[in-house]
Amino acid sequence: QEKDYQMMLRTRSPGGYIPPQLYLALDRLSEEYGNQTLRVTTRQAFQMHGILKKDLKTVIATVNRNLGSTLGACGDLNRNLMVPPAPYKNRPEYQYAWEYADKIVSLLAPQTGAYYEIWLDGEKIVTGEEDPEVKAARQRQSNGMLIEDGEEPIYGTNYLPKKFKIAVTVPGDNSIDVYTHDISFVILTNEAGELEGFNVLAGGGMGRTHNKEETFARISDRIGYVAKEDVYELIKAIVATQRDYGDRVTRRHARMKYLINDWGVEKFKAKVESYFGKAISPYKPLPEWKYHDYLGWHEQGDGKLFFGLSVENGRIKDEGDFQLKTALREIIQQFNIPLRLTANHNIIFYEIEPAHKQAIQQILAQKGVVTQPEAIDPLLRYSMACPALPLCGLAVTESERILPSILERIRALLNKLDMAEDKMVIRMTGCPNGCARPYMAELGLVGSAPDAYQVWLGGTPDQTKLARPYVQKMNVKDLESFLEPLFLYYKSDRLFQESFGEFCNRVGFEALRKSQEI
Ligand code: SF4
Repeated sequence: QEKDYQMMLRTRSPGGYIPPQLYLALDRLSEEYGNQTLRVTTRQAFQMHGILKKDLKTVIATVNRNLGSTLGACGDLNRNLMVPPAPYKNRPEYQYAWEYADKIVSLLAPQTGAYYEIWLDGEKIVTGEEDPEVKAARQRQSNGMLIEDGEEPIYGTNYLPKKFKIAVTVPGDNSIDVYTHDISFVILTNEAGELEGFNVLAGGGMGRTHNKEETFARISDRIGYVAKEDVYELIKAIVATQRDYGDRVTRRHARMKYLINDWGVEKFKAKVESYFGKAISPYKPLPEWKYHDYLGWHEQGDGKLFFGLSVENGRIKDEGDFQLKTALREIIQQFNIPLRLTANHNIIFYEIEPAHKQAIQQILAQKGVVTQPEAIDPLLRYSMACPALPLCGLAVTESERILPSILERIRALLNKLDMAEDKMVIRMTGCPNGCARPYMAELGLVGSAPDAYQVWLGGTPDQTKLARPYVQKMNVKDLESFLEPLFLYYKSDRLFQESFGEFCNRVGFEALRKSQEI
């Protein structure tokens, strides 16, 4: 008899969009076939853990029959596409970001029928008509020839050397860690709010391997500007460059960031231009990036409201008096509203009638869920953890299960040092793969050995700087004695409103180390 192999299922949810019908289906599936919880991921998707191999077909088919998909959520191709989750109806740039997320996902969707044959007995369920322009762009070869449905005109016969990640955002909105993707697009509109084109960044990526210097976290470079009518051709050109020149021999060196790093940006750009068929225009000036989590109540610009809810570690569960899973089910059943998952593993409900605000608030409060952003400890609010043990086969250490106690200990330490008002971005992962993007945190903890974490310092609250490794192994029992001198140094020598990450960068690691020797 076959063993009870357990699987993890991840949805493909561009921009974190989860229609109410899909949420309710995932909720039921997690009860019946999963571990009774749902996990919001750091790329705006849902993960369901604990599905037995024999139940996979039922679960995947049910997701598809309820307006969802898992196609391309894993594998060496374009993964879930990230977008700011704010549903501003009166800000066209946000609407364009959502629209282009769907278009780019469609452009880069694998064309194989195998997914439908294996999981849906050949029934090709699609949730809407494909944009004819996108379809034509996917099928158009550089010689102008069109390709038949079912062929892989962009990926070719072997897909890409490794996973590929894309984000679309709007100027100034860094709710999606803009520098951490293979490609990021920034929507640019004219004064009338019409889409003109996109700034393009490329070559970001978090994953690395301990003790392998040829692997590293990297933030993306500015590639240039592309007019809206050329955007699909530019995407195809970038993907083709990675497809044809990315490393297919050493897997841990296969992401596009290594190609860009090894070649340099200019050579990479020149190669992309040779596929694109013309020069890429210069990058346009942008305002500063700001991190937004959109927690709490907001107007969405058309008379309706949206509400951002903090979800600790992205885990939707019922536990004792904390009945988050039940609360979400009740809200969605009663008000039939959609969700957007955020890049910080939180949830946004939108399309809310103002008259329903009170009732929604009440359901959450009755189920023990904190709804006021100010009532959430900022350490928790800005933190992220990956699932790690016991759910991820790559995990070296705990992450999701231990982060709450780590945050409590750091909060207690800050209070003891008379720094109760202080906050910082803390992110933790169970291995260097970096799923919770710890290399952009002000304090990043990356599992390096049982009970020990590599410590990264120097990320910033707006997620614009890459942190650096400060120590290779900090035993978790030494957390307070390790951090106390650093916090005291920060307290005494910081500039006005200087964040912990900026402070670490300004004084430098040597000075930080000296503070720990005293
Ligand atoms: Fe990702 Fe590693 Fe965490 Fe697993 S343990 S979820 S691979 S960071």
